[in-house]
Amino acid sequence: MTTYTAPLKEMRFVLHDVFGAADKLTALPGFADATADLMDAVLDECAKLCEGVLFPINQSADQEGCIFKDGKVTTPKGLKEAYKQYAEGGWCGLTADPEYGGQGLPETVDYLVSEMVGSANLSIGLYPGLTQGTILALAALGTPEQKSYYLPKLIGGEWQGTMCLTESHAGSDLGLLRTNAVPNGDGSYSITGTKIFISAGEHDMTDNHVHLVLARLPDAPEGSRGISMFLVPKFLPNADGSLGKRNAAACGSIEHKMGMKASVTCVMNFDGATGWLVGQPHKGLAGMFVMMNKERLFVGSQGISVAETAYQSAVAYAKDRLQGRAADGVARPDKPADPIIVHPDIRNRLLFSRAIIEAERALAVWAHLQVDISHKHADAAVRQHAEDMAGLMTPIVKACGTGYGSEISNACLQVFGGHGYIREHGMEQLVRDVRITEIYEGTNTIQALDLVGRKLGIEGGRLFKGWLKEVDGTLARVGSRNDMAEFISPLKDAVERLKAVTQWMVDESKNDPNARAAAANDYLRMFGLTAFAWTWVLMIEAATAKKDDSEFTATKLAVGRYYMQRVLPQISGLDAVVRSGSKPLMALAEGAF
Ligand SMILES: Cc1cc2nc3c(=O)[nH]c(=O)nc-3n(C[C@H](O)[C@H](O)[C@H](O)COP(=O)(O)OP(=O)(O)OC[C@H]3O[C@@H](n4cnc5c(N)ncnc54)[C@H](O)[C@@H]3O)c2cc1C
Repeated sequence: MTTYTAPLKEMRFVLHDVFGAADKLTALPGFADATADLMDAVLDECAKLCEGVLFPINQSADQEGCIFKDGKVTTPKGLKEAYKQYAEGGWCGLTADPEYGGQGLPETVDYLVSEMVGSANLSIGLYPGLTQGTILALAALGTPEQKSYYLPKLIGGEWQGTMCLTESHAGSDLGLLRTNAVPNGDGSYSITGTKIFISAGEHDMTDNHVHLVLARLPDAPEGSRGISMFLVPKFLPNADGSLGKRNAAACGSIEHKMGMKASVTCVMNFDGATGWLVGQPHKGLAGMFVMMNKERLFVGSQGISVAETAYQSAVAYAKDRLQGRAADGVARPDKPADPIIVHPDIRNRLLFSRAIIEAERALAVWAHLQVDISHKHADAAVRQHAEDMAGLMTPIVKACGTGYGSEISNACLQVFGGHGYIREHGMEQLVRDVRITEIYEGTNTIQALDLVGRKLGIEGGRLFKGWLKEVDGTLARVGSRNDMAEFISPLKDAVERLKAVTQWMVDESKNDPNARAAAANDYLRMFGLTAFAWTWVLMIEAATAKKDDSEFTATKLAVGRYYMQRVLPQISGLDAVVRSGSKPLMALAEGAF
């Protein structure tokens, strides 16, 4: 069986000791209540919900899956009740505006909540994850009427939000989409088209659905500059605000998937459905990005979530499973064999998982802190820098969180041997569930292209230089500490290597149009591993300052050392791969494949 206990101690360490989040957050307008005590209380409550309600139905809900019949979706047993508890606990609107019933808490806390929910039950977590994105988009771009009517119900979790972008011929390239919107003459539009792969498009857990649909107006320019965003409710509102007649927006079928089987994925047919414009005409893709930026960080958290459950489950199994003897002497003479945790390979898998998860969690918390600062800080220059940092780190958190989420789940399945492959232990579910996170919300390749093609290019590398200043700030504080030299020196080397390869890529792309795309995925990994070296240095700094828990500090030092010695060196291989350029990829003629 898989096992999950919310890693509250680790989370608090990152939040309070590494980043001093409460001081930073309570200094921001609107976050005076986000004290360390309040954040701790929120995390405690969330842990109870995750361990006691969401995790126990994770496996049964996967095995039962969602059922589609007569246009309706029935979710697996227990999901509706669990979702109700989640919604009634106010979790859907944790970061939403209190004016509409939200809790007004920082995104930083929401990240840790999302991580726990995803660890406990990835499928159930996706439903409110989409609603939160819808809330954000409407709060930013909706009319006052749209906000006052829809936001309270979404925030309360009574209504489900969805994002309807993908069409059968338009996935990564949304400029190809064909769904159209014709003005009805009364301020509403008639939306026609078919969307595929729509998460939570239809189900039995909420009274209404609020679909955000991308479509083209009659005068729309070609491509991605001609896309507008529309709000299309499942039930049209009556004049008195009650739910009126059924809109022409319906689920045609559901997908049969590899994993996340308790999260329904729908084909949605819009047959002249009534909708209303959200934001400006033809600016829908930019509007959707308000939602997608949040969702990309959220999906990154999903990868970290599953990795944490896989790691905890593998540790429990490795301490219990007896096979072979330790090479350096019998560890358990009272038993017929030693627990497999004595074997270096098993330790390697567990340590790799732990070293990456802890670094990722720290990077994700830092990125969310930047999101909060970018929203609230009084100084425009500070807001801009924070926005830059969040923007730079979003593709890295998404692609590394999910890519390593898959790798770690697989590595932890291997710890179970054949028993990992068998359904009853639950490890194969984790591997199946996490796989989609590398694909949706923009595939990890699209994230890498965003990093090398867009983020690095902004104003001659302003974002990258901004992050280097953050690292310089860390080094100015701890760079001369001899007791940290074994962590500082590899970080410095990695940053120099990253700077050099970034410059190489910029130069190479002046002559080779394929250079950036050829480098993108390996470069993103290299950046991620370097950023993790930085978060490890921050964690070592905080752990060595902690004088009350020597065991915790010693563990952090050991895992940090493992990271620097056994994981970070991968960047030299990635460096060489990036520098091989596009020729090895483009040399083979299409017909030769
Ligand atoms: C379970 C599930 C849930 C989903 N939920 C939603 C949802 O709620 N709402 C929604 O709108 N969509 C949703 N999606 C759709 C998802 O976002 C898309 O599947 C994803 O964006 C990729 O699009 P595609 O599948 O059409 O692949 P394609 O775009 O056809 O890509 C195929 C391959 O080509 C690569 N590729 C594409 N373009 C480039 C390029 N320029 N350079 C290099 N490589 C490239 C991709 O990385 C990928 O490996 C969901 C999908 C699934 C499977």
